[in-house]
Amino acid sequence: MTLFLRDVTFYDWRTERLLRGDLLVDNSPHGSLRATADPPPAGATVIEGGGRLAMEGLTCGHHHLYSALARGMPAPARAPRNFAEILAGVWWRLDRCLDLEMVRASALAAAVDCLRCGVTRVIDHHVSPNAIAGSLPAIAAALEEVGLSHVLCYELSDRDGPAAAAAGLDETAAYLASGRPGLVGLHASFTVGDELLAAAVALAAKHRVGLHLHVAEDIVDQERCLADHGRRVVEHLAEHGVLEQRGSLLVHCLHLSPDERELVRRSGAWVVHNPESNQNNGVGALHWDGLDPARVLIGTDGLHGDMLRSMRAAFLSGQAQGGLAPALAWQALWTNQRYLERHHPAAARRNDVVLFDYLPPTPLQENNVSAHAMFGFDARHVRTVIAGGRVVLEDGRLTGLDEAAVMQFCQEQARRLWEALDQPAPKGRP
Ligand SMILES: [Zn+2]
Repeated sequence: MTLFLRDVTFYDWRTERLLRGDLLVDNSPHGSLRATADPPPAGATVIEGGGRLAMEGLTCGHHHLYSALARGMPAPARAPRNFAEILAGVWWRLDRCLDLEMVRASALAAAVDCLRCGVTRVIDHHVSPNAIAGSLPAIAAALEEVGLSHVLCYELSDRDGPAAAAAGLDETAAYLASGRPGLVGLHASFTVGDELLAAAVALAAKHRVGLHLHVAEDIVDQERCLADHGRRVVEHLAEHGVLEQRGSLLVHCLHLSPDERELVRRSGAWVVHNPESNQNNGVGALHWDGLDPARVLIGTDGLHGDMLRSMRAAFLSGQAQGGLAPALAWQALWTNQRYLERHHPAAARRNDVVLFDYLPPTPLQENNVSAHAMFGFDARHVRTVIAGGRVVLEDGRLTGLDEAAVMQFCQEQARRLWEALDQPAPKGRP
């Protein structure tokens, strides 16, 4: 059924124009969204906008849905003192305990969080080394239940031994062969050996997709790459053909030399900026110099699902580095969607709409939307969300599922997960 949004102020990110009037949302799978001067067609569902701000659904450029059940989890016995210890003591300790039910719960919890923030499309980076087979379809199903479109990948790594690496390749190959939008995921160069890296690039080439990996998130990535391979991370990745794969996502890119920046800029690869995660881990800040700003996406790195918050953090982090125009952070937020349209059209739904309950105290104009985004409207104003042409959040309530029941299920899985932490691994498990 067609949806008709009456009387909205629609921000069109493609033209950077504000359109005041009515919108028609076609809810077919690859449906469209367009302004109309006609009355609602017969049978259309009419939503009253009351002049309020509307825009396309937002996209998360880099998520780790699997981390959703980590919130408040028991701390490691010894507090991590650096990035390597954060990985080993928090994330790898957690991901080894995930089973498919916990994976599903994580995806549901994170998807609801996204939706409530107006985020309707997610690029995810998943890992669960003891529950690999079937993990990507399980995540896809959970996201679709909530209403999100997605680009998924499995994080390949040698850190859990050859069986886990082989199973990760199998899961990736099966998922890409199914025709769903995906990428070939890798953890980071310092946990991926040459053989696995070559296999990952070959798989990406076969399916004509990009790779999705953490790059120079911490200086340790550069130090180990220099020690192991005698060259810097981006040079190492370039020699293996990672940058040649169209649509590759290089996540973080904090510790790059000028030559590496040049390599990234000249390639077709995209950079994903995760400002809050960088601050949370104390790994440094992104320097935009030498990068192509039109190929910088923004992600949450699994901290949460709120892209407006991450976009503000990108702006503030840029300001702290000496200055970043609000318009540049605002543009990066929409680069996420431009990336999807170019490389994963099946996930780039154009009939996703967010309606904000935002009554601006100052004029909202075409030349100051980014300032309102930085200092005015945010996730608390998200009132109604249309995803794939159907209303999934209506006046703040999820329409397709019982949120309290879903969160109860997530709590049960979180308890199971937390109990499994620090238990001796069953035989056969790393
Ligand atoms: Zn990440």
